[in-house]
Amino acid sequence: MLNLVIFGPPGAGKGTQADLIAQKLNLIHLSSGELLRQELANGELGQEIQKYQDAGELVPDSLVVRLIENAITKNLDRAGFIFDGYPRNLNQANSLDKFLAAQGLKLDLVLNLELDEQDAIDRIILRSQTSGRSDDNAQTIGKRFQTYQTQTLPILDYYQNHGVLTNIDGRPSIAEVNSQILKILAE
Ligand code: AMP
Repeated sequence: MLNLVIFGPPGAGKGTQADLIAQKLNLIHLSSGELLRQELANGELGQEIQKYQDAGELVPDSLVVRLIENAITKNLDRAGFIFDGYPRNLNQANSLDKFLAAQGLKLDLVLNLELDEQDAIDRIILRSQTSGRSDDNAQTIGKRFQTYQTQTLPILDYYQNHGVLTNIDGRPSIAEVNSQILKILAE
């Protein structure tokens, strides 16, 4: 199995790149944001989830961890996973490591897409024209960045210490970033 995390600020291109890598390597693309949006549409916790997403805050760990662990369990016969938008804080990072270890698995690599805040905001504004996402608006975007800085960025140190972190320049085109990632994975 090959297990990857795609990491980076909102708008860095995590979802797009995760799709491409998943296709190429036959991995399961697990997006916590997407799992939450599905749960929002179908599950009992819809209103609760929407409240956090529209505020640009993290949904409580208990819910997100459960959704991710269920999705992993259903796909253990597959070639591996690429986690997108997960983990988002240290507690989630720890619990992912523990859960994988319990299945005899581990994270192989964390791909950190680097993009500065202004470039990322420009991309989200562009995406907002077609995404239909209620959280792709100027006010929520600001809060999502703040959440990223305070809660999500500290994970990088954790992964650096575990020797699995790779930084990738997120500024070039989709195709260029993709070929950069595939080059790293081939090494
Ligand atoms: P995303 O699609 O990754 O941009 O996520 C959209 C929103 O879903 C975030 O702003 C959070 O409110 C929520 N969310 C996504 N992933 C997580 C996570 N791992 N932990 C907590 N909340 C999350």
